[in-house]
Amino acid sequence: MIYIRYQGTVYRPPSEFDSLIIQATIGCPHNKCSFCNMYSERHFRIRSLEEIMKDLEIGKCQSGKDIESIFFGDGNTILMKTKDLLKLLDYCKELLRE
Ligand code: SF4
Repeated sequence: MIYIRYQGTVYRPPSEFDSLIIQATIGCPHNKCSFCNMYSERHFRIRSLEEIMKDLEIGKCQSGKDIESIFFGDGNTILMKTKDLLKLLDYCKELLRE
């Protein structure tokens, strides 16, 4: 479990305990559920592909072991443009193969 340049508290499902955790978005684009204050102090934004890819590279180097899964926080990563998301997933596939 590695956090690279993670802004704020990390929230991840228990099943992702051993995943490389990378912050692809910051905050939640909705941020209005009355029962949730996870991202209430973060202004939503999608990080640049360059930043995310750099974190993936650093995370892979620092892990010291094979990475089997990657988890993208914070909220709603699929809000990213489809072409960017595809580029990112292709990059992850390559990274996991190395
Ligand atoms: S993270 Fe989920 S539960 Fe929390 S405000 Fe956003 S949509 Fe609602």
